[in-house]
Amino acid sequence: MRQVQHLVGGKAWAGTGTRFGDVFNPNTGEVQARVALATVADMDTAIQAAARAQIGWAATNPQRRARVLFEFKRLVEARMDELADLLSSEHGKVIADSRGDIQRGLEVIEFACGIPHVLKGEYTEGAGPGIDVYSMRQPLGVCAGITPFNFPAMIPMWMFGISTAVGNSFILKPSEKDPSLPVRLAELFMEAGAPAGVLNVMHGDKVAVDAILTHPLIRAVSFVGSSDIASYVYSTGAAHGKRVQAMGGAKNHGIILPDADLDQAVKDLIGAAYGSAGERCMALPVVVPVGAKTADALREKVLAEIEALKVGISSDPAAQYGPVVSAAHREKIESYIQMGVDEGAELVVDGRGFTLQGYENGFFVGPTLFDHVKPTMKTYQEEIFGPVLQIVRAETFEDALRLPSEHPYGNGVAIYTRNGRAAREFASRVNVGMVGINVPIPVPVAYHTFGGWKRSAFGDTNQHGMEGVKFYTKVKTITARWPEGATEDSAFVIPTMG
Ligand code: NAD
Repeated sequence: MRQVQHLVGGKAWAGTGTRFGDVFNPNTGEVQARVALATVADMDTAIQAAARAQIGWAATNPQRRARVLFEFKRLVEARMDELADLLSSEHGKVIADSRGDIQRGLEVIEFACGIPHVLKGEYTEGAGPGIDVYSMRQPLGVCAGITPFNFPAMIPMWMFGISTAVGNSFILKPSEKDPSLPVRLAELFMEAGAPAGVLNVMHGDKVAVDAILTHPLIRAVSFVGSSDIASYVYSTGAAHGKRVQAMGGAKNHGIILPDADLDQAVKDLIGAAYGSAGERCMALPVVVPVGAKTADALREKVLAEIEALKVGISSDPAAQYGPVVSAAHREKIESYIQMGVDEGAELVVDGRGFTLQGYENGFFVGPTLFDHVKPTMKTYQEEIFGPVLQIVRAETFEDALRLPSEHPYGNGVAIYTRNGRAAREFASRVNVGMVGINVPIPVPVAYHTFGGWKRSAFGDTNQHGMEGVKFYTKVKTITARWPEGATEDSAFVIPTMG
């Protein structure tokens, strides 16, 4: 059976561990590979290799580092088809969606290609008599990224793209559920000219994560995954003196005001709720129509769209979404559907027990729709992360605004309306980190920053853009004086510029 290995110091490495994880083909349910799970000693080997490589890499001028990123982008683009196939085969998302996953990551690489400009620092001439002050951003050393299964290309690139551009070396600990694509990306990064050890991929589970969180040479940890683990990573990493950003789960709402273009809103909603089988942290699993008339019209249109939805294997170009990542995840989603029924929501379309001819053992879940979901229900408060759309009816704009604002998660939210003033007020007042106005999945472009609020993110810096640069660097400020003539007397009071 194919074995997915670590990549350390520029070479594939089996590690010394005896534990392995199964990598499934979600279309068929078969185990297609096994992945090595790192030991604490393996992690130390990788971190030491990264620390050795970092010194020379930090001393490489930023333009040369940027050239490696530029060449990496070219190599990834040239192999887009092969990479998208590999990604889909382990994740289960359809090929077009895998291409989007890779492309969104490349957009961060494009941003990182401009790193010489971004790192220029600040300078004040003549801050005092003969005194100049300047500041520079310096790399931290060895940084690490721990990533979820649902974006095995984009999220690793958010992290290693910027971290390596500023002069750090990097340990990537991708999800053990779909580990092959991150390894392939790291191989291409080496091929693009990155010195061995600058980007290392270590597979593993809690053992590997804990080794990262406690290792003295790791300076910063970026995490994306579910909220309980994000909270654990944040507190454990911080307790060990590391800089940590930890993005968690989500439950994004789509608010539909009565004046919205309902046809457009429903088309957007269907893609955002069911695309990638709902396994996106920026999916829209909750829709909030305002007023009974809007709700009834919306429900009818959503039903028609669901009937036309095509679920298929990930390589079927006609399929709109494929299987979920694992049998365990399918069971979790199906148990939430049962919970919704038990809680008294109306199950309008039931996606449980969905099978595809010829792929009876695949991890498929059909599109599911609930209506009359109440904010007190557990199925509303928790993240399901599957193709399940919940209609929560609101009577007024204020009710609709309150729902996402008071929800424990605060990643993204969307509002559909033709009224600019209502949209503006909503965007200003809603207690959520990323807002879409007539945009269903408001993932910010690479040169802005990505990050939710409340239980959707722990720590205070976002991913990518200038926040990413800040996260992976530390500022040094130099105050320099070149006095002329006689030496001045000692000063015993704090110097001022007054
Ligand atoms: P997960 O939390 O199970 O795993 C994320 C990472 O943590 C993986 O690398 C995994 O190996 C590791 N991990 C798992 N259990 C651990 C433990 N007990 N201790 C330490 N590390 C552990 O998440 P997932 O199922 O891979 O991904 C889906 C989740 O990620 C969803 O909740 C989704 O909303 C979230 N997500 C959030 C964002 C965001 O930016 N906010 C983006 C994508 C996904």
